[in-house]
Amino acid sequence: MKPSSKRRAFALTGYPLGHTMSPPLHQRLFEMAGREGEYQVLEIPPEELSSRVEELLALDGFNVTIPHKLGIIPYLDELSDSARRYGAVNTVKCGEKSIGYNTDVDGFVRALAEAGVELKNKRVLVLGAGGAGRMMAIESCLGGCDVVVAIRMSSVPRAEALAADIRALRPDAKIRICLMDEILPLIGEEGGFDLLCNATPVGMYPKTDAMPAQEEVIKACGCVFDAIYNPGRTRLLEVAQRHGIPTVGGMSMLVWQAVAAHEIWDGDRYDPGDIQKLTEEMSQLVSLQFGGGK
Ligand code: NAP
Repeated sequence: MKPSSKRRAFALTGYPLGHTMSPPLHQRLFEMAGREGEYQVLEIPPEELSSRVEELLALDGFNVTIPHKLGIIPYLDELSDSARRYGAVNTVKCGEKSIGYNTDVDGFVRALAEAGVELKNKRVLVLGAGGAGRMMAIESCLGGCDVVVAIRMSSVPRAEALAADIRALRPDAKIRICLMDEILPLIGEEGGFDLLCNATPVGMYPKTDAMPAQEEVIKACGCVFDAIYNPGRTRLLEVAQRHGIPTVGGMSMLVWQAVAAHEIWDGDRYDPGDIQKLTEEMSQLVSLQFGGGK
């Protein structure tokens, strides 16, 4: 049931949720826009989604994470172009109609844009072909980039399906798949990449010593983006910085995708300088929550 007061109700749904940054992040965005908004966590196991979807649709809006990004789609009235393109929904605006959006892509593109990186006609290396890697590869190909998706053996069928989907969207797309250990030989033959994007969980807390690519690969890239936001500064980013390579962290993407949700829910706009400060605030919070975070 919607609350009768002016205070509106929002939530994150997924399963399991454990530690999530979404409540403090969205609460801060409501405060920054001078709005009253309650943001709760609704952990819903997959087998309960159909019986509890009314609870979600009665809210003013909600965010969706694993495993419901696809499962929520049949319950929505409409999908935005980006949700249709990526086949995944992470933000829903409720009301007379429920509309599903994908703001992960906004987060990715805007985090890079704030760092001065435009996804146009670049050589891009994407590590991983899961939900985030898929989105990064599609977006880069649509921007005319020459894209290599590097995967481990178990991801080959998934990556081949991704390449086929991209070619269906853009027949002249420059998309190739290679195994992780084929990256260095490829660099030897063709030179480095303008941008490396990590879309694997390698390096995420608690296994923060791990790195998804060898140092020789990192050195051959003009900019490094890591989707991981815990820790804020992964070993991948540390190594890139040590070589003087510009870096962008996953917290920036997380914050910008949340900003895009508020633009959809309320039409609010935020100053990029304030969002930069919020990104730093959230990075500090993540290291406090997980201790030992960098
Ligand atoms: P996902 O769908 O599970 O995909 C993960 C990908 O990484 C798969 O291709 C997987 O391969 C691969 N992978 C996993 N472990 C690996 C390893 N040890 N070596 C090589 N490849 C490995 O996950 P996702 O949703 O795309 O998320 C990926 C990362 O992005 C996570 O760290 C997540 O936290 C982060 N993320 C950040 C944001 C943000 O806003 N900053 C948003 C979304 C995701 P297999 O298919 O073979 O298992």
